Amino acid sequence: MSFGVGDTSYEFMEITTKIGCPVNCLDYCPQEVTTSRYSGKRTLSIKDWEIMLNRIPKTLPLVFSGFCEPFANDKLVDLVDMAHKAGHPISIFTTLYNASRIDVEKLVKYQFLVFCLHLPDGKAMKIPLSQEYKDNVFTVLYNVRNVSFCIMNDRFKSLNRENITRGISIKPKRFRFCYKFDNPQFTLLPNGDVSLCCMDFGLSNILGNLLTENYVDVKRRFLARKRTTFKLCSQCSYNLSPLRALVDSVNRQNEKHFHLFQSSVRS
Ligand code: SF4
Ligand code: SF4
Repeated sequence: MSFGVGDTSYEFMEITTKIGCPVNCLDYCPQEVTTSRYSGKRTLSIKDWEIMLNRIPKTLPLVFSGFCEPFANDKLVDLVDMAHKAGHPISIFTTLYNASRIDVEKLVKYQFLVFCLHLPDGKAMKIPLSQEYKDNVFTVLYNVRNVSFCIMNDRFKSLNRENITRGISIKPKRFRFCYKFDNPQFTLLPNGDVSLCCMDFGLSNILGNLLTENYVDVKRRFLARKRTTFKLCSQCSYNLSPLRALVDSVNRQNEKHFHLFQSSVRS
């Protein structure tokens, strides 16, 4: 999942390839709520992905992440390949859990907008430290020039989504501003449901379904709400003052330009 490195300044959609993440970082990730509230097919199938891809504008960036480790679905590389061949810019957030050597060697050949490696933190994320896993991490490091990292260790600052989702009382605040109302960043589920955003682990804000309608229709309906917010927004860390959101956005743009500049100097 896209902890801490989410860029809210452009439109994209997160793809959840499976329901029920086997990595179970339960300190920060309310998996038990998502699995108990979900209904329908738990694994994104090739057949359904083909239908859904045909309903999504080709220019929309797709982020393999959402509410589960993407490699929990054995067909991940095929799903990525289909999105790439359809012309979508692609990103991924992964722990590499369940990834075979062959999978990772294939994966690193794609050009990713964002490739975020979620690394072990010694507590919350528990995956077997096999030789294959270690080799896979180094295959990513050696091949993905723009890799970024996420570690939920003592320095990690949670967005509090685990407590919000578990219904632990968070003082509500007045809604001020969230970029996602201008640049939707929905999360797609394996059953075709489109959820509001990466904060909706409780699946309480389903906006439409890509097995029965087009992305543009879901988006149009969402935008027609004219910033009518959701209960979730009143507890959310992305709900900021417009000034603070602007400063964050400028900082991100500067960082992006710095990296682009560095790449152009190197090439
Ligand atoms: S890998 Fe990501 S989705 Fe899975 S439990 Fe950990 S934080 Fe949640
Ligand atoms: S819950 Fe509302 S405020 Fe929070 S990220 Fe989603 S849309 Fe934005």
